[in-house]
Amino acid sequence: MANEPAIEIRDLRKRFGSLEVLKGISLTAGQGDIVAIIGGSGSGKSTLLRCINLLERPTSGEVAIQGETYRMRTSRHGDMEIADRRQVQRIRAHLGMVFQNFNLWPHRTVLENVIEVPIHVLGMKRDEAVHRAEKLLNRVGLGSQKSMYPGFLSGGQQQRAAIARVLAVDPLAMLFDEPTSALDPELVGEVLSVIRDLAAEQRTMMLVTHEMAFARDVASHVVFLREGVIEEQGPPDQIFGDPRSPYLKQFISSVA
Ligand code: ADP
Ligand code: MG
Repeated sequence: MANEPAIEIRDLRKRFGSLEVLKGISLTAGQGDIVAIIGGSGSGKSTLLRCINLLERPTSGEVAIQGETYRMRTSRHGDMEIADRRQVQRIRAHLGMVFQNFNLWPHRTVLENVIEVPIHVLGMKRDEAVHRAEKLLNRVGLGSQKSMYPGFLSGGQQQRAAIARVLAVDPLAMLFDEPTSALDPELVGEVLSVIRDLAAEQRTMMLVTHEMAFARDVASHVVFLREGVIEEQGPPDQIFGDPRSPYLKQFISSVA
């Protein structure tokens, strides 16, 4: 349904052994929302994104994508299991994740990276997948690099290829985990500009970033995570211009 939230998280908890990393996170991203997630190292930002697209199994709680709630059951080991494997595949295919370290397949060309999931998971015909991939690569400025292997590209080019790969599945929402923190400073701008471009067309995103000026500029909502709980959240002008929590104040001044 078009008016369902794109992503809805209810009381999400994640424990690694005795360490509880997420302590009851509830968060909603409406259609077209751009949710920036900020917080110190180890606060649980990556784990949160990884639980949303099921790279990690939540210990408890619910995640609903476009109104479809993951059906989970508790496994012998105490973590939640997803009852329906095809549901997992479908949801994961439609939640594109962009990682800090690009995670392209090194032995495939840029084009092959982009067409892989559309062909093998979504069942798209090769011609159509290639046609779409070429358009997306042009869009991110990589039209001339499509036959190259990732190792021959700059970090900024690799990250733009990774973004094209996610766009190729026409994602319900995009998850970015510090997409620019592995880049040399002079390459950050080209990746942020691609993300800004996607934000302008109202794609739903959850974006973990240390680029505070960027978050303030593009986000519709900012969430400050601290030790596995949402310490403060709100519109960017409030979070950055009028923070309430002393921890948030301290965090903002430490990264500014
Ligand atoms: P952030 O992305 O905010 O830096 P993470 O979500 O990566 O934080 O990690 C939060 C906490 O969870 C850290 O203490 C980290 O060491 C721990 N952690 C993350 N992944 C695992 C794992 N697979 N096994 C054990 N502990 C983990
Ligand atoms: Mg992280």
